[in-house]
Amino acid sequence: MSVEVKSIDEVVTTDHLLSARGLRAGYVGRTSDTMAVDDVSLYVNEGEVLGIAGESGCGKSTLAAVLSLTARPPLHVFEGELDVAGKRLSFEPDKAPPRSWRGTVVSLLPQGAMNSLSPTGRVGDFAVNIVRAHEGRVSASDAKGRAAERFTQLDLPERVLDAYPHQLSGGMKQRVVTVLSTLLNPKLLIADEPTSALDVSSQRIVTELMREMLAKKLVGGIIFVTHDLPVLRRVADRVAIMYAGQIHETGPTEQIINRARHPYTGALINSVLVPEPQVRTRRISGIKGSPPDLADPPPGCRFHPRCSLAMDVCTTEQPPIVGDERHYATCWWAKDHPGEPVEGKL
Ligand code: SF4
Repeated sequence: MSVEVKSIDEVVTTDHLLSARGLRAGYVGRTSDTMAVDDVSLYVNEGEVLGIAGESGCGKSTLAAVLSLTARPPLHVFEGELDVAGKRLSFEPDKAPPRSWRGTVVSLLPQGAMNSLSPTGRVGDFAVNIVRAHEGRVSASDAKGRAAERFTQLDLPERVLDAYPHQLSGGMKQRVVTVLSTLLNPKLLIADEPTSALDVSSQRIVTELMREMLAKKLVGGIIFVTHDLPVLRRVADRVAIMYAGQIHETGPTEQIINRARHPYTGALINSVLVPEPQVRTRRISGIKGSPPDLADPPPGCRFHPRCSLAMDVCTTEQPPIVGDERHYATCWWAKDHPGEPVEGKL
């Protein structure tokens, strides 16, 4: 039975594989700070892919950097808490997060990861460097053996370990770095735009590979960051929609696609072609206006200058959380229209 939630703390408890609460991160300015991630809370369950979607500049990649503990100046993590697989981390300004978490507790597959393969080194050397960076004096043959075993588990030919990057296609390079991101058995993999430079068939191979990594328990859970909703529809169990540094709606993927509650989610879906035939016929339309300046975001709901359903209250008051623990949004319109999707209203 679904229960109406009144605060995000009722949803993002410590019962999940990952719970992130109250994350705030951004850039210090002379007159004001730019908060690229502003009070973000989310969770990921064991065996689950959580997709994070939104327009360029909404804070997705900053959030990926915060969650993977790879944020570096000028980006600062001001506050927030992470619980991952029973371990807790509280962010504090000027205090570096523990290095020992990286690669083992959380692992990042960064944007353009395939280009991180050294052009003058073999794939196997790259694998050896990953293991040694975290475990010190492991012999090259042991480290390579671990990579070979992981390749076999995920049906990648072992001979690829002896190849140079220029001998591999873009799709194969992306598969290689994806598999190598699991080499230290991380609890959580954070993949930032892992399919954006790939053709459609390579995208499908990479998303299937990620599902296989989960099924074989080589990672506990995955956060998949992208602007590409059709890709998320294939790979994600749940989706969180980000706008102007905040998460505005979270829910099971099919509910987000077919029964969005937040006007921004509805506008985002209406702006892309979702090619699967079972998706209802609808007119494609862009989102009017542009995202706000995060150094000076609008008061009230940050989406109000672009929202066709905005009311007076939206311009001054923070919207409330509306929905149940599985599917919830922060929106005044959704509060006034319990259970109604925004489709057809925009
Ligand atoms: S709170 Fe108001 S402005 Fe914001 S999305 Fe909902 S209806 Fe639109």
